[in-house]
Amino acid sequence: MKDSKPQFAVIGHPVDHSRSPEIHTAFAQQTKIELSYERLDAQPAAFETCVEQFFAQGGRGLNVTVPFKERAWQLAQSNLSERAKLAGAVNTLWTSLEGIHGCNTDGVGLVRDLQRLALLAPNARVLLLGAGGAAKGVIGPLLEIGCRHLHVANRTADRAHALRQAWLAHQPAASSCLTAGAIAADLTDQTWDLVINATASSLQGEALALPAGLYDKTTGAYDMMYGPQTTAFLKQASQQGVTRMADGLGMLVGQAAESFRIWHGVLPEVTPVIDALRIQMSSAVR
Ligand code: NDP
Repeated sequence: MKDSKPQFAVIGHPVDHSRSPEIHTAFAQQTKIELSYERLDAQPAAFETCVEQFFAQGGRGLNVTVPFKERAWQLAQSNLSERAKLAGAVNTLWTSLEGIHGCNTDGVGLVRDLQRLALLAPNARVLLLGAGGAAKGVIGPLLEIGCRHLHVANRTADRAHALRQAWLAHQPAASSCLTAGAIAADLTDQTWDLVINATASSLQGEALALPAGLYDKTTGAYDMMYGPQTTAFLKQASQQGVTRMADGLGMLVGQAAESFRIWHGVLPEVTPVIDALRIQMSSAVR
């Protein structure tokens, strides 16, 4: 490796958009830990080889992004954290004498951000929209924190049901508080304390076809998507009277902070890093 500092990287394809190098460099400055952090663009056929070479050459830790989180989970099969086992996807890799280890820090990043923003109270009733990789990764930490009811609703209802079934195979005790279904009118049969958008709809700039009456005065709204502009999901929530809301920038920084803790044993402060990224994103569009 070219640099003598401990080497870390984010691996994905494409990976140019990843903010992980800026985030980890900011954490390193804050905690006075020396490291170098780069982007690794792996061709899909070469993901496993790329990871193995990185570690063989002395690399210390990898973050994994789209589209490789499930393949990273396979690669770390012998040494998965409990969170990673349940999530079925890995975004953090490191090695020891036992081989490659994997963890999923997305859910912890989300829950810590919701707590930081006071959007998640104990015993909350939470509606999770979406049943893709991001939704799967956050179910465990949301249940662990003590949500009274977590309902997963997806455009394709079968996917939400399958996700619930897979979850209950590991945690049968969750059967009464974890439910699933379609994005449909019956979502308004009860009130929600928090509605989380884990669909990719905001990436496409589209608001979801949600039933009216989903929110009351105190409901919070959180979109995992983030960007310089208010997302389509949050605009829609605001038009329906929601005032407590946030996008997923804090989740992004939170998942990075938990990876940093795993690698370096120190949990960095997230708020200054979130604030700096927010300013950077806004000035980039001016
Ligand atoms: P996936 O491709 O795995 O899942 C996509 C999900 O979105 C599915 O549930 C799909 O429903 C649904 N969906 C897509 N388009 C629409 C639409 N137009 N209307 C309704 N539902 C739709 O994506 P991920 O789970 O990996 O990512 C989801 C979002 O979470 C993305 O915006 C991503 O940027 C964000 N994310 C943010 C993170 C952060 O740190 N802030 C971390 C990880 C993800 P169906 O099954 O019916 O196709």
